[in-house]
Amino acid sequence: MKIILLGAPGSGKGTLAKKISRDFNIPQISTGDLFRAIVREDNPFANKVKEIMKSGGLVPDEITVEMVKNRISQDDCKKGFILDGFPRTVPQAEALEKISQIDSVILVELSHDTIVERLSSRRTCSNCGEIYSTDDNNTGFCFKCNSPLIQRDDDKPETIRHRLEVYEENTAPLINFYSDRLFKVSSAGTPEETYEPVKAFLRDLEAGVE
Ligand code: ADP
Ligand code: ZN
Repeated sequence: MKIILLGAPGSGKGTLAKKISRDFNIPQISTGDLFRAIVREDNPFANKVKEIMKSGGLVPDEITVEMVKNRISQDDCKKGFILDGFPRTVPQAEALEKISQIDSVILVELSHDTIVERLSSRRTCSNCGEIYSTDDNNTGFCFKCNSPLIQRDDDKPETIRHRLEVYEENTAPLINFYSDRLFKVSSAGTPEETYEPVKAFLRDLEAGVE
């Protein structure tokens, strides 16, 4: 089962992807996570990517497509995968069509006001990447591994607005691109409430695909 999660930054794609990955036993491929691993290094390429990410802009398509191509050619992707944060532009979607057959695209919908609120209170574990809200973890430390929580540079309010503009301009057109395989879900409720209809939909899809 090959699926794409589509939605604005902060709409809850990552949280949803983790649940799908666990229950359907397919890897979550987050281009944001892959890029964050790259920028931990210190070389000219990593520093260039770091700058782009910090500003909330997009890494060039050729680099991104190449990275995803490599990742989905690995063995653990044979039975399927969940793309989280890719494609993000029409050229990326066109390139993906040439390398893989996507079964379904899940569109996660949330108002921009709620997104700004959620991202501003988002904290990320500096070690394991676990995500928290200051509403449910104000200790400053990860409940799983005890490492300090940080606010991502691109989760600062001024950058969030810019990322939403980039989404509207570059990524929202993908909703039309995939209109023939789109499943919509609202993430205004809890993570469990968001997941429920998706899970039911994917169970059916899985039965049909296999
Ligand atoms: P978000 O919370 O915005 O979904 P991600 O973790 O998916 O954040 O991505 C963080 C940053 O990584 C993006 O703002 C962008 O700079 C870069 N990035 C991630 N995926 C892509 C992509 N498919 N194409 C270009 N840049 C990307
Ligand atoms: Zn942690």
